[in-house]
Amino acid sequence: MGRVTASLSDLPLRDDLRGLTPYGAPQAPLAVALNVNENTHPVPDEVASDILDDIAVALRDVNRYPDREFTTLREGFAEYLGHGLDASQIWAGNGSNEVLQHILQAFAGPGRTVFGFAPTYSMYPLLSQGTGARWVAGERQPDYTLTVEDAVAQVVEADPDVIMLCTPNNPTGTPLGLDVIEAVYDAARGVVVVDEAYQEFAPRDAASALTLLEGRPRLAVSRTMSKAFAFAGARVGYLAADPAFIDALRLVRLPYHLSALTQAAAVAALRNASTMLGMVDDIIEQRDRITATLEALDYEPHESWSNFVLFGGVADPHATFQALYERGVLVRDVGIPNHLRVTAGTEAETTAFLDALASIGSAS
Ligand code: PMP
Repeated sequence: MGRVTASLSDLPLRDDLRGLTPYGAPQAPLAVALNVNENTHPVPDEVASDILDDIAVALRDVNRYPDREFTTLREGFAEYLGHGLDASQIWAGNGSNEVLQHILQAFAGPGRTVFGFAPTYSMYPLLSQGTGARWVAGERQPDYTLTVEDAVAQVVEADPDVIMLCTPNNPTGTPLGLDVIEAVYDAARGVVVVDEAYQEFAPRDAASALTLLEGRPRLAVSRTMSKAFAFAGARVGYLAADPAFIDALRLVRLPYHLSALTQAAAVAALRNASTMLGMVDDIIEQRDRITATLEALDYEPHESWSNFVLFGGVADPHATFQALYERGVLVRDVGIPNHLRVTAGTEAETTAFLDALASIGSAS
């Protein structure tokens, strides 16, 4: 007799979770995986062995719970971010997804709303709904930018409890001016989160929302080690905000949520920040090569300040995705009509993508 299995509808699941689909970017074993905006460069050998040394030390004390306040790591992030920040203004979690979840657990929840300008990071609705909050999608200009007037008008209309501003925005790569962030903050009564997951790929002179933190206790700026630091598998994200904001997050985190091994690895990686970030310039170069080549192939790439490029002019995104897949290249169909998104890989991976695309034929 076969095992009798239940389906989700047989379980007493929360009504507000019925019908939702989990995050599910494919993890296909293709040679060239350019679909989830990872840093495809491995951690340099000398840094990897330095990190291993620290993990080995932490392992000897792993019978004890880790530092619940991950003090050394918070000091490391404060130093890395600069802008006069100190450890009391820093928070961290297992990826910035967890950091965002902490924010939503503390400031969203049942009966509350979370607002963002679509298209934007696909996890915002899911994280919001996970806390029982309602996700409200605003709109962007046709080129995915936002003007001060339009952004403010939409925020006033929605009157949300939490506002998610992603810059550079995923999946479009679009930067957001500090003037928009300031104006949205002034117009809102809720918490404003600026997700700077891709900030290290922006032009060097681009100002970060970190410069706006002073005197704005409802503002938080989140970052991640998953992209520029090539540390996606270690799961480390962090944010900077007012110390009172950080206190709110302490109410919802699980005790000891950052393992001793994670803390050790992240502290060692930060110590090697300049080497870890050495690949960023190369990635920017590949991103710009993708943009230029896509234009030459008659596709319509959008301006990107991140490590990926969203491009239009794709007659049938599903067919192009499939044709690339068959050539060993994984990209992302983000559900925007006539568009696909590709992550800038190493030079060889980027060449493989561009050659594969060119071999499929030109744009629509
Ligand atoms: N924010 C944005 C905009 C992202 O694109 C991602 C990853 N795709 C994250 C946050 C989460 O990254 P992580 O949890 O790995 O830090």
